[in-house]
Amino acid sequence: MSDIPLNNIHAQRDVIGDEIDEAIARVIAHGRYIMGPEVAEFEAAMAAQVGDDNVQAIACANGTDALVLAYHALGLQPGDAVICPSFTFVATAEAVAALGGVPVFADVEDGGYNLSAASVRRAAKMATARGMTVRGICAVDLFGLPASYGSLQEVASELGCWLVADAAQSFGASVDGQRVGSLASVTTTSFFPAKPLGCYGDGGMVFTTDGAIADRLRSLRIHGKGSDKYDNVEVGYNSRLDTLQAAVLLPKLRQLEEEVAARQRIAERYSAGLADAVTAPLVPAGYRSAWAQYTIVTEVRDEVQSALTAAGIGSAIYYPKPLHQQTGYSHFDSADSELDRTEWLTPRVLSLPMFPYLEDSEIDRVVETVRSVVDAST
Ligand SMILES: *Cc1c(COP(=O)(O)O)cnc(C)c1O
Repeated sequence: MSDIPLNNIHAQRDVIGDEIDEAIARVIAHGRYIMGPEVAEFEAAMAAQVGDDNVQAIACANGTDALVLAYHALGLQPGDAVICPSFTFVATAEAVAALGGVPVFADVEDGGYNLSAASVRRAAKMATARGMTVRGICAVDLFGLPASYGSLQEVASELGCWLVADAAQSFGASVDGQRVGSLASVTTTSFFPAKPLGCYGDGGMVFTTDGAIADRLRSLRIHGKGSDKYDNVEVGYNSRLDTLQAAVLLPKLRQLEEEVAARQRIAERYSAGLADAVTAPLVPAGYRSAWAQYTIVTEVRDEVQSALTAAGIGSAIYYPKPLHQQTGYSHFDSADSELDRTEWLTPRVLSLPMFPYLEDSEIDRVVETVRSVVDAST
């Protein structure tokens, strides 16, 4: 039997590989590798995809830079606190610390993987008591599901701070028909190859409804440029999206809706086969996930992973160590002495194969293998 990988970014080439290769060839022919016409074309296509006329899309070098640029444009100052989940990829907090800010870790919601508004309130109280200014909140749409922006925006308004959406895993998702990119006033995403919308290298983007922030982002990504690139109005970055990557992303973006729908069907088939054996991912009413990952919770996680590996099936643990326990980050404060839900999830989560071209027979094999362990253990 053939192996089933966790992700197969090559499978899409059977569908749009020729289109992508032609797009790459066009860039090589015109030779405008930096800020070539495909970059603006891709930014316009992404803003249109979000579907909110007030949203501007600013491309940059990667999803981590997107966060750094966003925090910088929002005015993050050294010593300022930004509350973020500990149950996330390191970049969320790294970008805060890179600017001299102080990440403060909060827990995730019961029954979910995303930032808890109640925990954010506790984190803010703690940070304020320690003399820090809470400048912002960064929510993460973990595994592709948008965070609870309604309740998080309420907390942000109470605290008088900004709310950034780290949507590195969720471009293509929505809440009540409102798409990722417009769920917060500033949203970042990543085009790392394994993300739902990935390129052939590194890439990232910031979305914002704030015209002044959009202008500042366009300056910051090109060395803090003013009227031209040899006029430098502030200290910035070299963080542009390569023209080649924009060209690769244009046909991939046209395929995205269909691919998110395919991921949705795969997730439903997984849940139908697994929901009575493990904790399947919860998608609240009105939410549409981009299904970057399909992540289960089980008491026999390590045994399930061993069985999958033995059966030639890929899986992954996102994330093996939460940020508040990482060597480089454990000196930062957390909302509570322990982040209960985060620490409970960490030894129990397992992400199963998920990509739009997974076949039903493959999904069924994954389900059978997971069940062979879980059913025997109960
Ligand atoms: C991938 C990811 C990032 C960083 O994106 P890069 O393009 O790899 O820099 C940031 N946040 C989250 C939640 C991610 O999954």
